[in-house]
Amino acid sequence: MPEQERMNMHTKIEILKGDITKVTVDAIVNAANTSLLGGGGVDGAIHRAGGPAILADCRKIIARQGGCKTGEAVITTAGNLSAKFVIHTVGPVWNGGEKNEAQKLTACYTNALQLAVDNACKTIAFPCISTGVYGYPFHEAAKIAVDAVMEFIAHSDQMDKVVFVCFDEENFLIYQHAMATKRESTWD
Ligand code: ADP
Repeated sequence: MPEQERMNMHTKIEILKGDITKVTVDAIVNAANTSLLGGGGVDGAIHRAGGPAILADCRKIIARQGGCKTGEAVITTAGNLSAKFVIHTVGPVWNGGEKNEAQKLTACYTNALQLAVDNACKTIAFPCISTGVYGYPFHEAAKIAVDAVMEFIAHSDQMDKVVFVCFDEENFLIYQHAMATKRESTWD
């Protein structure tokens, strides 16, 4: 069952455990790499489930701008997925925390949300960006994800729903805790 929190009058935040390719939303966010040519983890799962149309769109973006920088986001078709779009963002590789990782991870969430709004999306799902092969510590990454989304929706009422999709139980529990902590500090 989804853990649901209503943190403002409009935008609902959900925490789900499972596979992001199965979630029904307008935009699914991909934790891509700068090449946009696909990889393992959630990137591989999204390209496998969505089919070759996603990579074809990525290649057009590569031809236009040469990939995607860390912290930035680009948008493509979602191919065979039920979503309308995939928003590809590139999380930072964890390097001990002194290389602006937090700032870059915040930018991933903010830029993906802005791109979703710009494309009239009302619902969006995020994976736990950077917490796989990029090695970001789970607690820090979850706090950044929750803070960045809460900050964005505090200034924009364009989104109906933001879903955090945790692939593993550990992140699922960490996100629930991060949301509860945020709610306490926001409402106290
Ligand atoms: P990164 O390179 O940004 O670390 P990864 O894909 O390696 O990206 O991992 C990011 C997160 O996505 C990890 O928490 C991983 O467990 C999770 N993940 C992997 N496959 C899926 C999936 N199908 N749906 C949702 N999350 C997934």
